[in-house]
Amino acid sequence: AAKERGGRHRAYTPDLDTRAGEQARLAAELRTALEAGQLSLAYQPIVSLPEGRVVSVEALLRWTHPERGAISPAEFIPVAEETGLVVELGAWVLRTACAQAVTWRRAFGATAPERMSVNVSVRQLAEPTFAGVVAEVLAWTGLSARDLIVEVTETAVFDGGQALRTVKALHELGVRVALDDFGTGHSSLGLLQTVPVDIIKVDKSFVDRVTQAGRHAVIATALIQVSNGLGLTAVAEGVETADQAAELHRLGYRFAQGYHFGKPVAEPDFGAALTRA
Ligand code: C2E
Ligand code: CA
Ligand code: CA
Ligand code: CA
Repeated sequence: AAKERGGRHRAYTPDLDTRAGEQARLAAELRTALEAGQLSLAYQPIVSLPEGRVVSVEALLRWTHPERGAISPAEFIPVAEETGLVVELGAWVLRTACAQAVTWRRAFGATAPERMSVNVSVRQLAEPTFAGVVAEVLAWTGLSARDLIVEVTETAVFDGGQALRTVKALHELGVRVALDDFGTGHSSLGLLQTVPVDIIKVDKSFVDRVTQAGRHAVIATALIQVSNGLGLTAVAEGVETADQAAELHRLGYRFAQGYHFGKPVAEPDFGAALTRA
C-alpha cells in the first residue's frame, strides 16, 4: 500500500509512489496545466537604489494545482526542462509577460516599469529557434527589444555553443541578457570572459549577510567592482531589510530587488501598486 506522507497526499499506486513517479505525474499534469489556465505570472519590482523608483519588473511563473495548491517553480521548472515542455511553457511566459508590459505602458505611461525581465531556461537558449521566437513575440506584442531582459541561470551548458549563439542573436535584436544567481555557479567569473551579458544578478546568498563585516560583504564589494569594470549593470537579489538596501547602496549598487521593496504579486495587484506610487 502507498505510504502517507504528512497525511497531505492521497494514496498512490506503489509504482507511482516514488520520486520518479512523482516527477512523471508532475510532467503529465504540467502539460494540461497550461491549457487548463492553472499557470499564471507574478510580478516583482526591481528598483533603483538612489531613487527608490521601480525601473523594471521580473515575471515569475506560478502554478496553482487544483488539488495541491501552489507548486513552486523551483520544483516544476526542472521537470519541464527534462521533458522539453519548458520550450512551449517558456514561449507562453514570454508572450504573457511582454503583453503585460505593453498593457502597463498604455495604462500608466511614464510611471510604468521601463523593462520586463523574463526567466529563460538554458534548455530554451539551446533551441536554435529561440531568438526567432523572441523576435516574433516582440512583433506580436509591440514591446521594443530594448525593454526586454532575458534572465538566464548560469550553467556549464553555455559551453555547448548554441546557447552562446542565441545570446549573440538576442543582442542583435537589441534584447539584454542577465546572468541570474550570479556568484553561485561553478564558473561565474569564467562565464563573464566568454558570454557577452549585460547584467549580473548578484545572488541572495551574498546579500543576506552584506551588513555583517566579513567574507559576504567582501565578495559583494568585489562583484560590484567586476560589474563596473566590465561596464555591466549589477542587480542585488533577495534584499529583505532596509539595512541591506542601505549597505548595498553604499557599496555602489544601483539596482536591487527583494521582499523589502515588494514581493512577487499577480496582476491586477501589481498595477494597483503602480497607481498608488
Ligand atoms: P530566480 O529567477 O532567482 O527568482 C528569484 C526567486 O526569489 C523567486 O522565487 C522570488 O519569489 C524569490 N525572492 C525574491 N525576493 C526575495 C526575497 O527578498 N527573499 C526571498 N527569500 N526570496 C525572494 P520563485 O518565484 O519561487 O522562483 C524560483 C525560481 O524558479 C526562479 O529563481 C527561477 O530560476 C525559476 N523560475 C521562475 N519563473 C520562471 C520562468 O518563467 N521560467 C523559468 N525558466 N524559470 C523560472
Ligand atoms: Ca530570475
Ligand atoms: Ca536569481
Ligand atoms: Ca534562483
